[in-house]
Amino acid sequence: MDGKHAIGVDLGGTKILAGVVARDGAVVRRHERPTPQDSQEHVLDELRAAVAELLDDTVAAIGFGVPSPIDRRQGVVVQCVNVPLVGVPLRGLMHDRFSLPVGLDNDANAAAIGEWRAGAGRGVDDLVMLTLGTGLGGGVIAGGRPLRGANGAGMELGHVVIVHDGRPCQGTCTGHGHLEPYVTGIAAGLAAQEAFGPAADAHRLVRLANEGDETARAILAEIGRYLGSGMGSFVNIFGPELLVIGGGFGVAAWEYLLPSAEEVLRREALPPMRDTVRVVRAELGTAAGLIGAAFVAFEALDGE
Ligand SMILES: [Zn+2]
Repeated sequence: MDGKHAIGVDLGGTKILAGVVARDGAVVRRHERPTPQDSQEHVLDELRAAVAELLDDTVAAIGFGVPSPIDRRQGVVVQCVNVPLVGVPLRGLMHDRFSLPVGLDNDANAAAIGEWRAGAGRGVDDLVMLTLGTGLGGGVIAGGRPLRGANGAGMELGHVVIVHDGRPCQGTCTGHGHLEPYVTGIAAGLAAQEAFGPAADAHRLVRLANEGDETARAILAEIGRYLGSGMGSFVNIFGPELLVIGGGFGVAAWEYLLPSAEEVLRREALPPMRDTVRVVRAELGTAAGLIGAAFVAFEALDGE
């Protein structure tokens, strides 16, 4: 073993994406398999299988990005949003099975680390990444290190209030007016159904916008304004050099979201960040999470 490669595993609600990743972020080979929904044991079996099928002598560490708050001290997955994993000591279980250093992080953190190390944020020490998919994940790199919050669980950037007493939040969140229910693919799908009928969804909304439909473009521009409110607040809090927008919906709708989001961002943010922060599209697509998870593995290997 020469520490050349790490396996990164991105556990999603529908798919487990796993890859062998080099120190420079290059994905040497990758696999995906469906995420079981029936039991915790089945999910753990599939995670072990995902690692086992990629393992060879060049792999020196394993990292996992999971959609859950993480107890990093204990290496425990606290509770996944959309996968049956609750209170699982994943780091210990995987270390017992494979006898390699194991890193564990929140999936949104992992995606931010991936873009920072090997994507749109290469060479930048301070960035905020927002991942707009069915939910809104976020991760922060500050002073050249991932920011994980006082308890290490990660940053819940989708759950900042942007409208007092506003829309109910998504999923199990009890909050109102959080950023998430205004800017996700689900929010876009609901707006699309209101405008175009019950069969419409976020994909169709973006397609209509691409075809020049003014109503679709207006809906996306409105979503962009809400996004801009969130971005302006994050710029004021974290002072990043770069805002990276990723996720399936964020990347697909980018050109329609960005102008209005930037307009609001530049209004809400204070100088000097207002004038210096750059907003860019993520570069790694669906691989960001597994690449970031591999860098979390290298962290564990190098004992950072
Ligand atoms: Zn919320």
